[in-house]
Amino acid sequence: MTIHDKIIAITGASSGIGEATARHLASRGAAVVLGARRTDRLEQLVEEITAAGGRAAAVRVDVTDPDDLHSLVDRAVEGFGRLDVLVGNAGVSRISPMTDVDVEGWSAMVDVNVKGVLNGIAAALPVFRAQGSGHLVTVVSTSGLKIVPTQAVYAGTKNAVRTIVEGLRQESTDGVLRTTSISPGYVRTEFIDSALDDPRLREQVKQTMAELGIDPTAVARAIAFAIDQPDDVEIGDLTIRPTRQG
Ligand code: NDP
Repeated sequence: MTIHDKIIAITGASSGIGEATARHLASRGAAVVLGARRTDRLEQLVEEITAAGGRAAAVRVDVTDPDDLHSLVDRAVEGFGRLDVLVGNAGVSRISPMTDVDVEGWSAMVDVNVKGVLNGIAAALPVFRAQGSGHLVTVVSTSGLKIVPTQAVYAGTKNAVRTIVEGLRQESTDGVLRTTSISPGYVRTEFIDSALDDPRLREQVKQTMAELGIDPTAVARAIAFAIDQPDDVEIGDLTIRPTRQG
């Protein structure tokens, strides 16, 4: 089975990379089940996908709530018969030097970026194992590959996910589960609008994003590439960044 007819749940599907991924996968024949907190945006997206002949459903999901991830997975199974792929994409960033001691921001990143992915694994893994197949795609970041000042905790959360997924992969060599970690560099999305507490840092990153950032469809195509492989082929890690990114 390639992308066509796969049932794919995506967290953080209300904007940016998640939204672009939903549109791209639906256009390739997948049924997409969209999760995020902004349900107005999700419903609009479902309308557009179905108007174009695709299949989509939306569920309000706050990834910090384990029950919401179960609702997302249940919606896929009850509405479309199974869950082939979970794309753990929802994420937040609070960029500031450690000396700011932004304890609230650190907690938010750990809760969404790390526990949010674990909540997805907890909901999807039993379904994948019962079906005998499944694919977990996580969206991490080049921030975890090149550690820069002001992004220590953000990078740490992304590398925690990278490590957890590799551990899961090592435990899953019976052929049931495929895992893929996608590391985007600068991508033009709303991410930075909600990212920075310090207006000066916000402007710096926004400027870099405007100069360098690639379109989120580039990441969507990379996710599709990983999903589109035959069952015995696992794309483990993919980095997608602007050609001029340092
Ligand atoms: P956006 O801000 O456009 O998208 C973030 C998504 O995450 C939104 O759909 C938002 O939905 C969702 N989200 C945030 N918090 C929660 C929550 N508690 N529960 C459920 N959903 C949540 O940014 P991007 O598309 O850029 O970000 C997507 C992923 O890509 C993130 O994991 C980010 O870390 C990663 N990334 C982004 C890069 C970039 O340059 N843009 C670079 C590298 C990685 P809602 O608010 O409706 O809940």
